Amino acid sequence: MNLLHCFKHWRIRRILRRYPVNRLIWRRLMREDVLFSGLSSVQKAYLRELTTLFIQQKRFHAAQGLELTEVMQIKITAHACLLILELGLDYYQGWRDIIVYPEAFWVERDETDENGIVSHQQRVLGGEAWLSGPVVLAWQDFDRETHQFAAGRNLVLHEFAHKLDMLNGAANGKPPLHSSMDHHAWTLAFSQAFEQLRHQLEQGQTSTLNPYAASEPAEFFAVSTEYFFTAPDHLAHHFPRVYQQLSLFYRQDPLT
Ligand SMILES: [Zn+2]
Repeated sequence: MNLLHCFKHWRIRRILRRYPVNRLIWRRLMREDVLFSGLSSVQKAYLRELTTLFIQQKRFHAAQGLELTEVMQIKITAHACLLILELGLDYYQGWRDIIVYPEAFWVERDETDENGIVSHQQRVLGGEAWLSGPVVLAWQDFDRETHQFAAGRNLVLHEFAHKLDMLNGAANGKPPLHSSMDHHAWTLAFSQAFEQLRHQLEQGQTSTLNPYAASEPAEFFAVSTEYFFTAPDHLAHHFPRVYQQLSLFYRQDPLT
């Protein structure tokens, strides 16, 4: 172990010792939030460490008068860190800020369509993730989804999946795969599923995933990540190859 590694290790141990996540808040979250019900006690302990380190490394900002409590920060962080439970905190490197609005927020910006035509757009968003920039969330949307445990819906999982996708540039539905993974198998699984979903919508059939997934490959990856963690049986049933690739990428198998 070299000196730099030793120092990093020492700093991590110190943060975990000095700034542990509030025990009562943590216990309640683990007990009441069904998203974590399948985790072993070892996984929960590691998730708590990741949550502690994340809160120390990142900066939360409240927008539009929201009172951003410790409970809210811990809940957002624990959901975000579930994605990287078997990947490590380095997967959230290169950015620092999480901005939390009380509810869905308006954005105004110039957008360029596929023909290169720029138009000024106003939209209401529940969340967004910026390349090398902040993650923006609407607390009410996230809180509502998690209280009702809407299968396939989880704003934090969605936006942080975009962050993983952006580790290798603008979000395109393909995060940096592990060296053991097959790029062709990933592309085939996701492109076939994406086309299948678009076909369902074009034919007026019942969409097997949230139709938003069909808007572009980046959204398909983010939405399928939501299903992978909140409704794994549904995703594995309808898109088994996508489930398998996500299982390889996240190094988790929520079905077991
Ligand atoms: Zn999205």
